Amino acid sequence: MIPAHHPSTERLVDYALGHLDPSFRLVVEAHLAFCEGCRARVPQIAATLEDPLQEAPPQPVPSRLFESLLTRVRALPAPTAPRCGNEILPLPASVWNLLPNLSSLTWQGAASPGFRFLRLPAPQSDAELLLLHLRKACRFPEHGHLGTEQSMILCGGLQDEFGTLEAGDYEESTAEKIHRPVALADEDCWLLSSVDGGVRFTGWRRFFQP
Ligand SMILES: [Zn+2]
Repeated sequence: MIPAHHPSTERLVDYALGHLDPSFRLVVEAHLAFCEGCRARVPQIAATLEDPLQEAPPQPVPSRLFESLLTRVRALPAPTAPRCGNEILPLPASVWNLLPNLSSLTWQGAASPGFRFLRLPAPQSDAELLLLHLRKACRFPEHGHLGTEQSMILCGGLQDEFGTLEAGDYEESTAEKIHRPVALADEDCWLLSSVDGGVRFTGWRRFFQP
């Protein structure tokens, strides 16, 4: 399936320049793993940006460098499906090597039955990186965001007041957006989210949040 929702040009420029926070970068990279169109755009964007190395004189390539790199790449172990404890997570192979080691992490989540999440290690990041799992047809409570949230659907899909997102789709939500997502009825939904300000519940749950 070809994704219908993509990062903005501004985000892809930030990505090409290496200016994205590491958590946001990983969410964009997960989208690139699905999206041939954006994969093709990144080098085009990078080519239009100023390249400080452009003036450097060309260096001769050491002989046999390519062959030795190829040998090293071939010797790398094949990525394996991510696990959390004894559970193998049904995530697409295209993102296996992007995810950190999840094996010792603990599931959290009490906001809604059928919803749980893992807080992923995100070194040098100011944002939180989360792997979220909603069982099919699970409703997440109405909420807004205190900062920016970038999300990327890994499997299944979500529907809210603004439309439907399916595997490969990328979405950026700002503080103004209040929504009540529900997982599509036919498949569990897994998504990768990077959040830099937290979530603000706006329904009755707002009375219980600190
Ligand atoms: Zn795309």
